[in-house]
Amino acid sequence: MMLRVLAVLLLAALPAAAQAPARIAVVGVDVLTMEDGAQLRRSQTVLIEGEQIREIGSNITVPADARRIDGRGLVMLPGLMDMHVHLEADPAGWIGVFLGHGVTTVLNLRGGPSHLELRERVKRMELLAPRVYTSGPYVNRPAIETEQDAARAAREQKAAGYDLLKIHGPLGNMAFRTLIDSAHALHLPVVGHAPRNLAFDSVIAVGQDMVAHAEELIYTKFSALDSSALGDIPERMAAARTWLVPTLSTFHGIAAQWARPAAADSALKVPEAAFFNPDLVRYWTQGNPYSGRPAEGAARILRAYHFQLPLVRALHAAGVRLMAGTDTPVPVMVPGASIHLELAELRAAGLSTYDVLSAATRNPGDFLNQHIDRALKVGRVARGYTADVLLVRGNPLDNLPVLRSPVAVFTRGRYLDADRLSALRTHGR
Ligand SMILES: [Zn+2]
Repeated sequence: MMLRVLAVLLLAALPAAAQAPARIAVVGVDVLTMEDGAQLRRSQTVLIEGEQIREIGSNITVPADARRIDGRGLVMLPGLMDMHVHLEADPAGWIGVFLGHGVTTVLNLRGGPSHLELRERVKRMELLAPRVYTSGPYVNRPAIETEQDAARAAREQKAAGYDLLKIHGPLGNMAFRTLIDSAHALHLPVVGHAPRNLAFDSVIAVGQDMVAHAEELIYTKFSALDSSALGDIPERMAAARTWLVPTLSTFHGIAAQWARPAAADSALKVPEAAFFNPDLVRYWTQGNPYSGRPAEGAARILRAYHFQLPLVRALHAAGVRLMAGTDTPVPVMVPGASIHLELAELRAAGLSTYDVLSAATRNPGDFLNQHIDRALKVGRVARGYTADVLLVRGNPLDNLPVLRSPVAVFTRGRYLDADRLSALRTHGR
């Protein structure tokens, strides 16, 4: 009797969606599935049930109880993913801003216990936010000196529940090797900077899973900005399946504000930064690590930026898999909005629009599935995949900027219309 009362009370407390999965049918929509190359499937019905894409096709019967959304004139594609973010400065208060810009998954590359808690709150859908994966604290010198330090860090971060390890500084050769081997034995991927005290070849040799910036090659491969020194690195990276998150827009942003405090100030005045809290504003102004640098370095930074465009193109051409990432909110990268800058940079580097879109959808989906969460299916519009999808007006294969103002976003099947997205962009929640 007692149990029955409890069950009734529990049911009453659950939101309606938990009782029977809500069904939504988007009808007449053109779909960029990211499964069949650079083309749209015209005039499809996409049936979403609960968090999942249940059916997709041109001849689907819409169940009577499903909510119908007119998709005519719209394109559906997978939600975007930002594979290098830093959820700092009270992120629960602003993390929703990512959804407003069409970003449905983020990879946080410096985490602590508060990020594990944030990740779980998002999982339970207590916060309107993109899916979060997070590394733990940085694993490099001085915290990691010996092989024992490396093995212990891998064990401890695994036990704490982090999704991956992040390198952000120098490492001894043996400690580096032990770190990667210990992490892999625990099914933890290792990503981040190249240990800049070592040659880039060691990143490939020990099997680091992902390099978090294209600029890492500059520090560890080239004594001068001479692309002929690249040698067979692209082929070897591809063969070793070393992923790359180029963060070209981040570096471009650094070049733009180098020795120019006014640049950061004006970046704060864009409407996309309206939701910034005082900590974020301080980080971009008083705490800005770039704007106070001596002016004579500016030309060198700009040259290093221009050097990276053909570098990324060469790596891509050799088969190195790329993922979009922004390092947001490092100045002047606005959370959410900055993903569109990175897509433009990858296009400027010479990738096709389809390959650019892959870097923000199916590639991160594959990376997360292979390295972090075997049950995760995101990054494609296909039956059985999570309904993390966007509706946009216009074909992004012809015009990437149509992604900047999504008409609707589905996050794990939850429908956010244009008004909701606009509120998220302005207030972050
Ligand atoms: Zn970073």
